[in-house]
Amino acid sequence: MAHFNLNRLVRPNVAGLKPYSSARDEYKSVGEEMIFLDANENPFPSDVNRYPDPQQRDLKIELGKIKSIASENILLGNGSDEVLDLLFRAFCEPGVDNIITLPPTYGMYSVLAGINNIETRDVLLDESFQPKVSKILESIDKYTKMIFLCSPNNPTGNSFADEKVEEILQKFNGLVVIDEAYIDFSKKGSWLMKLNKYPNLVITQTLSKAYGLAGIRLGILYASIEIITILNRIKPPYNVNQLTQKRALDEIKDQEKVNSQVADILKERVVLFKALKEIEIIERIYESDANFILVKVDDANMRYRQLIEKGIVVRNRSSQPLCENTLRLTVGTELENNRLIQVLKELN
Ligand SMILES: *Cc1c(COP(=O)(O)O)cnc(C)c1O
Repeated sequence: MAHFNLNRLVRPNVAGLKPYSSARDEYKSVGEEMIFLDANENPFPSDVNRYPDPQQRDLKIELGKIKSIASENILLGNGSDEVLDLLFRAFCEPGVDNIITLPPTYGMYSVLAGINNIETRDVLLDESFQPKVSKILESIDKYTKMIFLCSPNNPTGNSFADEKVEEILQKFNGLVVIDEAYIDFSKKGSWLMKLNKYPNLVITQTLSKAYGLAGIRLGILYASIEIITILNRIKPPYNVNQLTQKRALDEIKDQEKVNSQVADILKERVVLFKALKEIEIIERIYESDANFILVKVDDANMRYRQLIEKGIVVRNRSSQPLCENTLRLTVGTELENNRLIQVLKELN
């Protein structure tokens, strides 16, 4: 490990901040026996008349059990987008610092960098969509605060090789953020088990994909207690609303439902993959560790438009480097996938 020093990484103004103490911070639980006259809420009871728990304790405890991790290592937000944005705001000095992303990849890292006036340094993946570790290490300077690794990667669908990720974790003394939005569909295990080994490791997950809860917006960040403490200093106190906390808690308790839906999607991914091989306009199908498949077609813009005319929306990824003429196809229900295959067969 290089010299990792969290105090050197955090923005000076953030290091000195005290978090806003909300009325509901002072009293842990909304016990029925207590009379709450502290937060200027409407006293007439409903399921949402009180402010939500700013630390989402119940939800974190349940999540911690499922993921075998302490609740103190968890930060929750309004989607992954919010927890990623908090990282920028805590660690990246606008107009000074930079981050590294590995295109073709998820667009939000550079969007958030732009919003926060942080330079993005792009180091393209290699031809097999794996990180070029030496190129990445060469791009680092003393203002490089974070490297974003999306694994399984969106839009390519593959996971990054363990030894490449490990080398970056060992040689970079800023934060290595591994976005595991698609981890539940992957053959590979999560990097969560390595959290104790690497103080610079940050992992994000989401309930938007495998858990079927994109509409409630719940993003999860795992990191050392020291990093979580810094992020807690700057997060809006009530960033995860009561309806989301309750629904998320109900749903994650039902792991059987999630597991069976994921199993169905994985089964369908195999069926779809096979069927795509028989389609003439498809020139290449990329192996997927996620709930989507990237394909190379003869003319992505034309095929995209034709699919729209037939009532099917896919994602055209042609504008991304190394992704010329590619479409990203989400694995849908059996019925939806059959329809996609039928329409693709008829295109000419
Ligand atoms: C879909 C996706 C997310 C999810 O973002 P949310 O804000 O949690 O819905 C995060 N990262 C990647 C790479 C994704 O594809």
